[in-house]
Amino acid sequence: MANHDNLAIEARHLVKRYAELEVIKDVSLDVREGHVASIIGSSGSGKSTLLRCMNLLETPDSGDLTIAGESLAFSHARHHRPDRRQLQRLRTQVSMVFQQFNLWPHLSVLGNVIEAPMRVRGLSRRDATSLADHYLARVGMADKRDQYPAYLSGGQQQRVAIARALAMEPRVLLFDEPTSALDPELVGDVLAVIQSLAEEGRTMLLVTHEMGFARDVSHQVAFLHQGCVEEIGTPHDVFENATSERCRQFVSSVA
Ligand code: ADP
Ligand code: MG
Repeated sequence: MANHDNLAIEARHLVKRYAELEVIKDVSLDVREGHVASIIGSSGSGKSTLLRCMNLLETPDSGDLTIAGESLAFSHARHHRPDRRQLQRLRTQVSMVFQQFNLWPHLSVLGNVIEAPMRVRGLSRRDATSLADHYLARVGMADKRDQYPAYLSGGQQQRVAIARALAMEPRVLLFDEPTSALDPELVGDVLAVIQSLAEEGRTMLLVTHEMGFARDVSHQVAFLHQGCVEEIGTPHDVFENATSERCRQFVSSVA
């Protein structure tokens, strides 16, 4: 049972630039353990960049981040950069699911799921396989364990990608528009899996354009605009009661 008083993510004044372009501007965000937070906002508002900063696929230029028990302070000073051991720990504790699934095409479904637990967590093939079988069953993909990704639908590939993320037994799951690349009839299966993970009390940070889903599943919703959190609150606050006119317009345009 998650301790709801603990913060799984505590981001303070995060800034990320690409050359002169400030893509993330002073973003602060808390996510409690066992809670689901969704990030919404138009294309180019910085949602993916913010998510990638959370697992250090991108290094913020400044700010502080505590995630899954790892505390990081960012600045241009080199000695503030996270060291390799800290990065390694963080990567085992924070798993990400991508819009384009990013499965390894040369590995079977099982091969995809056991790879990181073996290589990063140091599990034996046997232990990794039993873990993989457990999580593949969890996402309804047990019968495809020996198949290759190219033979699966997008929805099936995404469920394998979720099993792969779960097999790291992370403290935090990040989802970057997990259903945006799917044919409409395949979206429901993937959302059902994510919903069941939410009901299990997993800590998740979810970027999505599925407004109805975000409203149902989230404890907290943040509306991002040009790299700033322009509105943040409960789903009711953001979807029915936003103070930002831009947020209200965005929500009504995609709902
Ligand atoms: P979103 O996910 O909300 O669509 P992104 O985080 O992908 O937004 O992008 C935010 C802004 O940052 C966009 O203007 C985008 O062009 C820019 N950007 C993203 N990644 C890079 C990069 N690697 N180099 C330069 N600019 C980037
Ligand atoms: Mg994006």
